Amino acid sequence: MTLLHPRLRALENSLGVSTLSPIIDPKLSDLRIRLWLKRDDLLHPIISGNKWRKLKYPLNDALVKGADTLVSMGGAYSNHLHALAFAGKSLGLQTIGYVRGEQPKIFNRTLQDLSQWGMELRFVSRGDYRMLRAYKDSDMADLSSNQYWLPEGGASALALKGVSEIVAEMPIDFEHLFVACGTGTTLAGLIAAAPVHCRVTGVAALKGAGFLNREVKQLLSQNQIYTNWQIIQDYHFGGFAKSTADLEQFVRQFYASHSITLEPVYTGKLLYAVFDLLQKGYFKTGQRIVVLHTGGLQGARH
Ligand SMILES: *Cc1c(COP(=O)(O)O)cnc(C)c1O
Repeated sequence: MTLLHPRLRALENSLGVSTLSPIIDPKLSDLRIRLWLKRDDLLHPIISGNKWRKLKYPLNDALVKGADTLVSMGGAYSNHLHALAFAGKSLGLQTIGYVRGEQPKIFNRTLQDLSQWGMELRFVSRGDYRMLRAYKDSDMADLSSNQYWLPEGGASALALKGVSEIVAEMPIDFEHLFVACGTGTTLAGLIAAAPVHCRVTGVAALKGAGFLNREVKQLLSQNQIYTNWQIIQDYHFGGFAKSTADLEQFVRQFYASHSITLEPVYTGKLLYAVFDLLQKGYFKTGQRIVVLHTGGLQGARH
């Protein structure tokens, strides 16, 4: 048990509850398959979903070590920077965000929020951004002792500990666990925590995601080999943040049927994949599937 810093404990206590919502659908009941959505989108409107899970222990580490500034990186629509800026403000920590690309003349809503919450934005070229990616768990060069580095997407080994708490909260047994993948950090945390008889599947939100297999293995502890997992690459819909009319229609239809909002970048592709696999006979009769709703609805604003 890691003792939580009082400021982090207070932030955690202010969060909502992630429930397990059963999805009722004739496509499922015909096959006697049960499906639940683990509603991490209900944790917080901004530090939503897996971003809280991934940030929890790194933020605690920063507080315990007495850092006063959090430093990280992301794209101009980054849910990670958005959650980090808000969490930093809530915890009384300064934040610095390296943002990929030139500073735009007009800020989108994500960037507007970041600067409003006091994040210092440093726009960097794509080349420099790639170089920053090399700083994983190791501290970034040129940081002073009061600054705390978090890699892109919060992809650190310490992030896995918070993600594993998702599995610990699950009140039911299940055969399948599905999650959307960006950096694969959330997937890695679920793999490390899932029961052995459970198959953990990541659905890549980006094109050419083969490299994620290596990244996930790197994040998982070296002394244990996990085999009960896979990353499916067939549901990127053209690439990261790309969408199609079919996907948009699916997201609308899902809301109409279940009153649960998805976004097309991650969770829309994830649920589309699960229902497509269902239609193709991928699941066995009687199986129980849990799909993680990782939140991220802010990124869908335009
Ligand atoms: C960031 C994000 C992901 C990707 O998480 P990784 O741990 O980077 O794979 C998935 N879903 C949503 C909604 C996100 O915001």
